[in-house]
Amino acid sequence: ARKILEVNEMSAGFLVNKEIVKATDRISFNVEEGKTLCIVGESGSGKSVTSLAIMRLIDYAGGAILEGDISFNGESLPAKEQEEMRHIRGNQIAMIFQDPMSALNPVFTVGDQIAESLRLHQNKSDKDAMKEAVELLRQVGIPSPEVRAKQYPHELSGGMCQRVVIAIALACRPQLLIADEPTTALDVTVQAQILDLLQNLQRETGMAIILITHDMGVAAEVADRIVVMYAGGIMEEGSVEEIFAQPSHPYTVGLLKSIPGFEANDGNDLYTIKGTIPRINQLPTGCRFHPRCEHAMDICRKQEPGFFQLGPDHKAACWLFEEHAAESKVSPARAA
Ligand code: SF4
Ligand code: MG
Repeated sequence: ARKILEVNEMSAGFLVNKEIVKATDRISFNVEEGKTLCIVGESGSGKSVTSLAIMRLIDYAGGAILEGDISFNGESLPAKEQEEMRHIRGNQIAMIFQDPMSALNPVFTVGDQIAESLRLHQNKSDKDAMKEAVELLRQVGIPSPEVRAKQYPHELSGGMCQRVVIAIALACRPQLLIADEPTTALDVTVQAQILDLLQNLQRETGMAIILITHDMGVAAEVADRIVVMYAGGIMEEGSVEEIFAQPSHPYTVGLLKSIPGFEANDGNDLYTIKGTIPRINQLPTGCRFHPRCEHAMDICRKQEPGFFQLGPDHKAACWLFEEHAAESKVSPARAA
């Protein structure tokens, strides 16, 4: 499939105590048309900053893209003026967030809010926009869409509201949908329904999806490819099959252990990995995961590992794979 988004050695960061700190550190990945890439990691891993950078919304959050490139349909996004970005955000890349209620305006009906998006981005007349809004509500699986269109967000359940938010996102017919923890606020049954919906819509429209989640269980359901992030860096990347059949980076292994049912889990702590993620302005030397890693060796404390290739399309940034990779094809390791 065609690569629609290419992120290349991209660092994005913020000013903290008059110092520039990287919230993402030279990250690279691609997203293909019609496919879902999941970015997984704990909060503070840089997942959300990655999506804000792609959308160039980071500019409004007091941050900036510091180095590297993000190319969408072959065009560099960091090079664009915000005026052009507004157009891209309205027509080609859409984003949905964790809390549907905060994304919706309480004083307008849901039909009006979808119609507004259509009027704004597609110059539809009021009547056509409302007709299409009802059609979109039907498409996202809302029963009696004509009735629902006239209701306000507080009259709908959380799951219904997230469907409305998805309908608004679809109104711009995006080639890429970025979903940041879209089901985290919803109960498990509804969560599964929303993930199904996203997959069905992807099949119908061919849109690419970047789904950001802390939950490996969610990634298992929807991902084609998985990028595992930790403290701003990519630790491992592979197909969903590779990551689950052959999880390699100790951090990935730890995340897998956090899937309920996979190993004893008290239901509150999502992680069985000891310790906490470092602050972005206080990264340890060497491998950024070493203070929490059960396998840490001397070299891990001194030198940052580059990527070692574990398969044609599977790589991990971990010294444990140095030898293995030396016997197979070695990727051009990141400059240490
Ligand atoms: Fe652990 Fe070393 Fe691998 Fe880092 S490089 S994950 S510290 S074994
Ligand atoms: Mg986040």
